[in-house]
Amino acid sequence: MFDVVVIGSGPAGYVAAIRAAQLDLKTLCIEDSIDESGKINLGGTCLNVGCIPSKALLDSSHRFYETKKNLKNHGIKISNVELDLQSMMKRKDDIVSKLTGGIGGLFSANKVESLMGRGKVIAKNTVEVTKKDGSVENIEAKNIIIATGSSPIEISSAKFSKNIVNSTGALAFENVPKSLGVVGAGIIGLELGSVWSRLGSKVTVIEALDEFLPMTDPDISRETFKEFKNQGLDFQLGSKVTKTKELKNSVRITYENLGKEFEMEFDKLIVAVGRTPNSSGIISDDLNIPINNGFIEVNDFCQTSVENIWAIGDVVRGPMLAHKGSEEGIMVAERIAKKHFQVNYDLVPSVIYSHPEIAWVGYNENELKKLDISYKVGKFPFSASGRGLAIDQSVGFVKVLSNAKTDTILGVHVFGPAAGEIVQQALISMEFGSSAEDLSMTMFSHPTVSEALHEAALAINNQAIHIGNKRK
Ligand SMILES: Cc1cc2nc3c(=O)[nH]c(=O)nc-3n(C[C@H](O)[C@H](O)[C@H](O)COP(=O)(O)OP(=O)(O)OC[C@H]3O[C@@H](n4cnc5c(N)ncnc54)[C@H](O)[C@@H]3O)c2cc1C
Repeated sequence: MFDVVVIGSGPAGYVAAIRAAQLDLKTLCIEDSIDESGKINLGGTCLNVGCIPSKALLDSSHRFYETKKNLKNHGIKISNVELDLQSMMKRKDDIVSKLTGGIGGLFSANKVESLMGRGKVIAKNTVEVTKKDGSVENIEAKNIIIATGSSPIEISSAKFSKNIVNSTGALAFENVPKSLGVVGAGIIGLELGSVWSRLGSKVTVIEALDEFLPMTDPDISRETFKEFKNQGLDFQLGSKVTKTKELKNSVRITYENLGKEFEMEFDKLIVAVGRTPNSSGIISDDLNIPINNGFIEVNDFCQTSVENIWAIGDVVRGPMLAHKGSEEGIMVAERIAKKHFQVNYDLVPSVIYSHPEIAWVGYNENELKKLDISYKVGKFPFSASGRGLAIDQSVGFVKVLSNAKTDTILGVHVFGPAAGEIVQQALISMEFGSSAEDLSMTMFSHPTVSEALHEAALAINNQAIHIGNKRK
């Protein structure tokens, strides 16, 4: 009998399995996905068709765009910049293979066993595994961790086909589409739209909501909308796709905006309207574990209604982010080993890997107003950052929100160079209950883009050095 059986090897599952093994628990990880050669394919959405391949293409497409359009700002002239899409895709695929193969190495080093097949929890201590050849094996476990992740949502008005694809298809186009429609202006839609726009597609993003990035701070949403449009992306907000027709080499879509119907035609259409948890057929009904809207119900420690059955990552509530799932994996392994561990769900960072990046943690202004918490704002633009100017990245700002009474930092929002890294620094200080004054009394290296965080913290008390605060 295993101490722990994990179903799913994405960033939630494989991290849970490794930590469980580090805690001397006999651990097995079951994974259903296989690669082209028929071998077990570890790493889940994140490594195979999510975070990693998308960031590889974002980086390559950014370099292509910079070389073509912006190197002249540095006095570098290059003619005949050409795209070799096949090599770009191969680089992405090589990175994916290296990382997914690496998980196998980590499993061996930590003595995590793996098994290929589809897992289903059929009793409190039993996982049924259906192998690719149809054979079935029952595995006994003291603890079971469900980490089966999520899949792209398909909408009835735009069913996946040759030219209508989900995020996975959009990471593997063989040619740059001349025109590209993206349904959904969420993180994935914006990242994939950016990749293909930089490589030469004319991109139109169709979003049902009237507001752009409604989960972000209002300043971020306003400024980033302008920047995406500057970069050539077109937006149809408040527009709902009602019909699509697959043509020979294109797709015709019909969408509704303010009661009127419009039509557009694209070479390819990416549908990126969100993801749905993989919970169907994973747990036997006899166990009576509640599932809500597809999400397996768990408490704050990711424990289901059956005490030795746990669920983590995209298949449970909370943001569908790799790092959130991984932290949950560590928490569950630690708790199975009877140690204390909890996830601070108030401080889950979010990053959009556009150029410049967008990142945030904690509350934004809209949320603080709703909660009736009085707050102070400190803001610093990258146009006043020496390093920002030196590296030709002076768009955007850092914004720090702190409690008006205690000065405790409540939220940090960044649009600009290395936003994801800057927010991480703020997050560490927030974990330790830092005030804006603590941050403002911390020394930052010069010249770094992180100095903008320092200055934004100083700006809360009107003490920023590099912006003109008018004294009364
Ligand atoms: C294009 C894209 C870009 C993204 N970028 C980012 C990013 O930059 N940062 C970020 O934090 N997140 C990003 N995400 C989200 C991130 O990929 C997910 O939040 C993360 O992968 C969830 O991890 P997980 O372990 O819960 O599930 P998954 O990664 O989905 O893994 C679940 C695994 O379980 C397996 N499985 C399912 N059912 C069974 C079964 N019955 N038996 C055995 N195995 C099973 C699946 O094959 C899969 O391997 C991105 C997603 C996409 C699509």
